[in-house]
Order: sequence, then structure tokens, then C-alpha cells
Amino acid sequence: MSLGSDVALATAQRRLATAARHLGLSDDMHDLLRTPRRAVTISVPIRRDDGELLVLTGYRVQHNLARGPAKGGVRFHAGTDLAEVQALAMAMTWKTALMNLPYGGAKGGVAVEPGLLSAAEKERVARRYAAELVPLIGPDLDIPAPDVGTDEQVMAWMMDTYAAHTGRTAPGVVTGKPLSVGGSAGRAGATSRGIVITALAALRERGHDLGSTTVAVQGFGKVGALAALYLRAAGCRVVAVSDVKGGVHDPGGLDVAALMRHVADGADSVIGYPGADVIGNGELLELDVDLLVPAAVENVITEANADRVRAGVVVEGANGPVSAEADQALADNGVVVVPDILANGGGVAVSHLEWVQNLRGYPWSEVDVRRQLREVMERAYHEVSALAAERGVSLREAAHIIGVGRVVEAHQTRGLYP
Ligand code: GLU
Repeated sequence: MSLGSDVALATAQRRLATAARHLGLSDDMHDLLRTPRRAVTISVPIRRDDGELLVLTGYRVQHNLARGPAKGGVRFHAGTDLAEVQALAMAMTWKTALMNLPYGGAKGGVAVEPGLLSAAEKERVARRYAAELVPLIGPDLDIPAPDVGTDEQVMAWMMDTYAAHTGRTAPGVVTGKPLSVGGSAGRAGATSRGIVITALAALRERGHDLGSTTVAVQGFGKVGALAALYLRAAGCRVVAVSDVKGGVHDPGGLDVAALMRHVADGADSVIGYPGADVIGNGELLELDVDLLVPAAVENVITEANADRVRAGVVVEGANGPVSAEADQALADNGVVVVPDILANGGGVAVSHLEWVQNLRGYPWSEVDVRRQLREVMERAYHEVSALAAERGVSLREAAHIIGVGRVVEAHQTRGLYP
């Protein structure tokens, strides 16, 4: 267990414990919710392009199945381990419940640095990982999706491997697929659109005029770049963005579409974008902006830097970017945090729409998908915001009270077998 994942799991358990206290849960129910339903460690041996054998380790944790089949992403990341996946699977349980989707929560991953694999090696990892999971996944069992270091191509390989093993076409076994093999219109930008819907709701609630709202986004990958683009389209001034290599800052506002072209045209980083100052990832988090969107990795705002965060609103695009200790420091300084299980729930919300389309064999238009996404996100945001105001708790606590509460209700209604 690495220190980071250890902290992530302790944080997830602490957030559940707070919700359990608010909900007045019995110790037995709390125990049931703390414990993953299934957790597997998988050996993922692959041949490298030079013929050498590489034995990787993969994981899948199905945290809770009370509300439906398990649902959650698969990450390819060097630091991934069982504790990290367990923490993220638990967060998925509360996220799907908060979004009111008929799912439980899961997460999976392979401990590997995807940047060090060729495309062919990455395909072998995806296929071997999927093959080992065949008995545990399926449209009514557990439905993987993309996460850090994976994408729609990885989902296509996983679906194809599942079909080869079972002898059946079952596009609903994974979501976040390419459009050509049963993906949904509007899935690609869904997480980012959801982030923007909740961010704008939080800003409006606090009386911000969008035209003068300044924004910094950490992470310029598939979630962060589109979040920055949509925020600018909504009228905000995006003054800083960053990726793993560092960031760029322009107080007058960045042209996000031009930045995306700069990265796509081979720069491979926002750094080098003409006319903007270079800043570090840590510095970006401390900029004096109205809205900060950490959309890269977990644990970037901790007790070490929370006191230096000057944004009024922090919207968690990534899973777990703010640590539990930092939560307290931010709250003491009047910084509002829109929590991950609410802010980035747009991805799994459209995953659900994709799965429904797959089961029915009937696709929706992008307009339909976006309308449904907006409805789900706005309803979830207003439920959380209303409960936070009513109980005098943070948005994170309110989101957990709702999510955990729905899972408890499902457990109580189903009863215990045998
Ligand atoms: N990996 C995304 C998340 O953390 C999407 C999960 C899904 O669509 O199942 O929410």
C-alpha cells in the first residue's frame, strides 16, 4: 500500500463515517457500507514488443451492489493499488446513488505507466485485464468505463475481448465506447459539461456575474481541457491552465481552443503556448481567481497548501483532489468546495444513458443526451445545495448524506440474504 492510496482510503472511510453519523446509522450498517462486496487482484502478464514478458498487477473492486450492477472506471496508472481502487470504488457507490442511477459502485485499474507502453502493448494490457474479468463483468453485473490513463479505444478492446470470450455482442458491458461500436453521442464531453453545470450553479448561487468570473483549471487532459473550453464558452475568463509538465497564465484570458490546437499539433503540453507566462502546477492552485477546477489527479490540495488557496469556489473535476484535512482549512477560510461525487458525476450519468441505449438498441441524439445530462446534474446540485443549507453542513457532507442514505434505503428494502 503506498502512502497516497493509504490516505485516499482513510479519507473515503472518514467521509463515510461523517455521513453515517449525520444519518444516525447503526454500527452494523456502517460496517456493511465500509466493506467492499468483492475485491480482486489480477495478474496481467503481457508480451512486450521486444518479446519480453511483463507481469503487471490489476484490480477490480465492486464496492456495493445494493442499487444495481457495479459501475465505475478502469485506470492505467503507475501508482494504482488495491487501497486506491477500493477508495475510488466506494466514492462511485455514493456518486451513482447521488445521481440517482440504478447502479452500485466499482473501480478497477492496472498498475502501469501507460506512457511507457506502445499502442500494441496497451491493447494487450486491456485485453488480458478484460479476459481475466470476464466472469465478473457484464451489462447486469459490473460495467467498466474510462478513467485516468484509459480512453474509448481501451473500452473498445475490452468490449471486443468480452464478446470473443462469451460469444455474444454485448455493447452494454462497458461504457465510454467509440460511437462506431455503440458509444453515446455526447459521452466524450459529458464529465466536463457536468463540471461546468455545477460550477455555474455554484457561482450563480453566490451572486457571481459570469462575464467577470476568472477561472484556473489544473489538468488539460480529456476532462480539464473541455471544462476550460466550455467555461470560456459560458462567458468566464480562463486565466490559467496546466498539465503534468506545468502551466500557462494570462490574466487577460487564454484562448482555450487555440491552446487545444497547440497541444494537438504536437507540442504535447500547454507550455510553449505563445503570449502566456509559464507557471507551476502548485502556483496555479494558489492564483487569486473566482473558480478553481482541479481536474488532474487526487490529493493536490492538502493541509500543506490549503491555506494559500484564494479561489472562492473549488469544483473537483478529478476524483479526490482535496484531502480531508484540506476540506477543513478551506471551509475555515470560506472557500466553497463542490465535491467530486457531485461535480464529476456527468461522466457516469451519460454512461448510464449509453448503457440504456445499448440495452434498447436505439440511440438518442446529442441534443437528447445533453438535455438529460443537464437535468440530472441540476437536480443533483440543487438537492445537495438545499440539504447543505438546511443542515448547515458542507456540500461534500450533504452529497454524502444523500448518496449514502439512498444506498442504506436500498439495503433496508432488500433485506439480508439468507
Ligand atoms: N471514471 C469516471 C468516474 O470516475 C466515469 C465512470 C463511469 O462512467 O462508469 O466517474
